[in-house]
Amino acid sequence: MSKDKVTKTEEEWKRELTADQFRILRLKGTELPFHNAYYDNKRKGRYYCAGCGKELFSSETKFDSGTGWPSFSGPISEDAVELHDDKTFRMVRTEVACARCGSHLGHVFDDGPGPTGKRYCMNSGSLRFEEAK
Ligand code: FE
Repeated sequence: MSKDKVTKTEEEWKRELTADQFRILRLKGTELPFHNAYYDNKRKGRYYCAGCGKELFSSETKFDSGTGWPSFSGPISEDAVELHDDKTFRMVRTEVACARCGSHLGHVFDDGPGPTGKRYCMNSGSLRFEEAK
């Protein structure tokens, strides 16, 4: 395991995160569409993991997917996130997790715009936005 990794017990996560963040990041929960902080955020800046602060996404790849969740055509770097097969709820999806702390961020789908064709569908609750200065 790389020394960059953040590992905590679920008790520690529970203490440090809000109830909503814990439910999304650690229990792989999903927040409501159109009722979350960043789906309509058009400001320029960067999005960091709400669990560990790792830089994950840039406003430059953010697009309006119409889903009500913040959507990106790709992460800020290939090694920022990890992808896992997710076969819950009778679907086969690809889960997106933070590469540093393993927290759940959302899912990635193959119906995005642009050359990558990817749509990273994220939970606002798993992210923290910082506006560019
Ligand atoms: Fe993280």
